[in-house]
Amino acid sequence: MNRFAFNCPNSQCSSQKLEEVMVDVTVTSEVTVIGGEEVLQYGKQTNLDGYVVRYQCMKCGQHIANNEDELFKSKALSPNEKENSR
Ligand SMILES: [Zn+2]
Repeated sequence: MNRFAFNCPNSQCSSQKLEEVMVDVTVTSEVTVIGGEEVLQYGKQTNLDGYVVRYQCMKCGQHIANNEDELFKSKALSPNEKENSR
């Protein structure tokens, strides 16, 4: 499958970072340090279950799509020429 680049459609923003938002996720983290200034420090994290509710711009929060199908139809994506020429 071809690769795509994300460009935020918000003209005030221009971010190229897209994020996926999930809900109903169970997160488990290894506790690596107990006590001290930060009280608890964490190591490896695991996410279980959950489902995607939307894709949005990581910087301004602009809503892009509700699922993968909509994401790939979005005008915020354009062919990533650099990656596709490899
Ligand atoms: Zn944005």
